[in-house]
Amino acid sequence: MYYTFVPVLLLRTLVAASAMSLVVACAAEPLAQTELVRNASASTSQRSDSPVVDAQTESTQPSFSQWREQFRVEALAAGISAETFDRAFAGVRPDPAVIEADRSQPEFTRPVWQYLEGAISPQRVRSGQRLLDEHAASLDEIEARYAVDREALVAVWGLESSFGQIMGDKSVIRSLATLAHEGRRPAFAKSQLIAALEILQHGDITVQQMRGSWAGAMGQTQFIPTTYNTHAVDFDGDGRRDIWNSSVDALASAAHYLQASGWKQGQPWGFEVQLPTGFDYALADNEIRKPLADWRRLGLRGLPSGRDEASASLLLPAGHRGPAFLILDNFRAILRYNNSSAYALAIGLLSESFQGRGRVAGSWPRGEQPLSRSERLELQERLLAQGFDAGTPDGIIGANTRRAIRGFQQRLGWPADGHPTQELLGQLRAQP
Ligand code: CA
Repeated sequence: MYYTFVPVLLLRTLVAASAMSLVVACAAEPLAQTELVRNASASTSQRSDSPVVDAQTESTQPSFSQWREQFRVEALAAGISAETFDRAFAGVRPDPAVIEADRSQPEFTRPVWQYLEGAISPQRVRSGQRLLDEHAASLDEIEARYAVDREALVAVWGLESSFGQIMGDKSVIRSLATLAHEGRRPAFAKSQLIAALEILQHGDITVQQMRGSWAGAMGQTQFIPTTYNTHAVDFDGDGRRDIWNSSVDALASAAHYLQASGWKQGQPWGFEVQLPTGFDYALADNEIRKPLADWRRLGLRGLPSGRDEASASLLLPAGHRGPAFLILDNFRAILRYNNSSAYALAIGLLSESFQGRGRVAGSWPRGEQPLSRSERLELQERLLAQGFDAGTPDGIIGANTRRAIRGFQQRLGWPADGHPTQELLGQLRAQP
């Protein structure tokens, strides 16, 4: 998926969740998530489709109250009590703003370097350092229990909710009910809604306090309800898993999730490297993993000594003209939290910034303008026309599109980094 730039969702192992991720991410947090996909609401790219969708909606969809009655039967069959359901749904009406957000498709994305500047602002670094100090005793206990490094936890906390200050103020039940009734992915929303009702039934939070993003990401960790049910913990011992009001519960819940995602305490997320001239950029592929010893043999510089057997991939977030990073297991654990390599890079660099490190030495190609959504669609269509299978054009630069780009770059004799650029699109436009 958007794997380099577009932020995806929070926490889930469900494959199904990854499309929504984007969506959750948008609303989750102003900096970490949203800015990458800013300008979304202004996009008119979907306008031409809308009447068709609306017409179908009207003819086939039940009204909200009809839907609610049907869903009530399903919820009760799933173990939700009538009392829990009726209390949660009292006075609930669809939220038009949620539908609008669900249907918007961002036309423009920010370049990765701008995203990182926002994510790792001096103010956020200072806040994180202060909070590491303030919560030192709790973080000692959390590290001891979950074996996840405290700097990474505080970095996640900082990007997901600005350390608990921006969590989204929408009713989670109302948002998810709206999405389950007429969102783009009703089955996913419905599973989240059932999970949200389970949380209420368990008594962790009241329906009034259960607030989150328009897509249902909740609390200081921005967990979606299913992730909450599998990974939220009551660490402060008051009997409730309160990721909204208890920073300790939130930090421990994030630690629990990263532990389950394969975090290795004390290991780096990765590190910046320098590539030799004549390097085969096709090796910069998330699916290619090599031991550090092999990367060293290929001429990469900047690798730490030791750990030769550790398995790493090469990441070029802005293509071959930008900085290069070798990424290790902890980077992949962060991707489980939010499947965006820009996000994972931000978490890695922010956690190092708390310790006075985390600076990128290489220079970003600041003159390059990322492709807009319509340009990405055009790129995919033109790659297909040239015989390079980029998959069904969807504006998403995923593994298939990258492979197709590499093929075309190789035909041109260009560095095959799989990175979409205006220059590449220009070459495609010039093809017969
Ligand atoms: Ca608690």
